[in-house]
Amino acid sequence: MADIKTVGVIGAGQMGTGIAHVCALAGYEIELNDVSRARIDAGISLIEHNMQRQIARGIIDEAEMKAALGRIKPQESLARIGATDLVIEAATEDEVVKKSIFSALAPHVGPDTLLASNTSSISITRLASSTDRPERFIGLHFMNPVPLMKLVEIIRGIATDVQTYETAVNFAKSLGKTTANAEDFPAFIVNRILVPMINEAIYTLYEGVGTVEAIDTAMHLGANHPMGPLELGDFIGLDTVLSIMNVLYEGLADSKYRPCPLLVKYVEAGWLGRKAGRGFYDYRGETPTPTR
Ligand code: NAD
Repeated sequence: MADIKTVGVIGAGQMGTGIAHVCALAGYEIELNDVSRARIDAGISLIEHNMQRQIARGIIDEAEMKAALGRIKPQESLARIGATDLVIEAATEDEVVKKSIFSALAPHVGPDTLLASNTSSISITRLASSTDRPERFIGLHFMNPVPLMKLVEIIRGIATDVQTYETAVNFAKSLGKTTANAEDFPAFIVNRILVPMINEAIYTLYEGVGTVEAIDTAMHLGANHPMGPLELGDFIGLDTVLSIMNVLYEGLADSKYRPCPLLVKYVEAGWLGRKAGRGFYDYRGETPTPTR
C-alpha cells in the first residue's frame, strides 16, 4: 500500500476546493490547480470562507484552519502536480476535458504516483486507458459538499490493482469518510439513482404537473428529502446534471435516461444553478426565488 503525504488536486471548483479542504485538515500537503491563477485563488478564498463557517460552528478552531490553509499551495505547474503521491482530478464533467488533463499531466507523473478522478459518471476504465498506468488509476467519487458528506464512492476500473484500491480506501478513511464500492458502469451507484430522479423532477416541471415550489415542497415534505430535487439540481450544477444524464443515455442506450429538454435549455442559457447565481431558482437576491 502506498504512503500518501502529498495530494495534487486538479480543478478548484466546488468539488476540488472541498477535496482540498478535507485533505488539508487531515494533514496532507495539497497542490491545487485550475486553468488560471485567478481561478485557483478564488478556490482558496472559498476554502477559507468554508473553514470560517466550520469555526463558527465549533467544528474546527483558528489554529487548525491556519495550519490547513498553510498546507494548500496554489499550483499552476503540472510538473509539480505530477510529483505528488496522489493526483485527484476534479475538473469539469466532460470526458474530453478530463482526458486532455491526464494527457497533459502524463510526462510529469512520478513513477509511483496514483491517479484518481472524482468524475460523477464517466467510465473509470476509459479514463484510465488514456493514461500510462491503468492499474494505478481509480475513481474516488466525493459527495457535495465534501466537508459535510460522509461518503466516498470507490470505483475500480477493469485494470485497477489491489494496492491502489487498498490505498484509496485507507486514504478516504483517513479523511473520516465511509466508502462504498461501485462497479464501473455509467454514473456508478449514487448518481445512477439520484440524477434520473432530478431529471424526472425537471420533466414534472416541463409538463406542468407542478411549479418549482410545489415540486420541491412535495419531495422535501412528502418524501422527507433534505432538499427538493430542483434545489438539489441547482446545488450540484445543472451542467453536471446534464452531463451525467448524457453519460447514462449514451452508456446504457436506454431512452428512459433522455435528458429533459428544459434541462438542456437552462444549461444553454448558462443558468447552471447556485454557482452561476441562477438556475431553477434565482440566488442573486436575499432569498432564492423560482425562475419559472
Ligand atoms: P465546477 O464547475 O464547480 O468546477 C470545475 C473546475 O474545473 C472549474 O474551476 C474549471 O475552471 C476547472 N477546469 C476545467 N478545465 C480544467 C483544466 N483543463 N485544468 C484544470 N482545471 C480545469 O464543477 P464541480 O461541481 O466542482 O465538478 C467537478 C467534478 O466533480 C466533475 O467531474 C463532477 O461531475 C464531479 N462531482 C460533482 C459533484 C457536484 O455535486 N457538483 C459531486 C460529485 C462529483
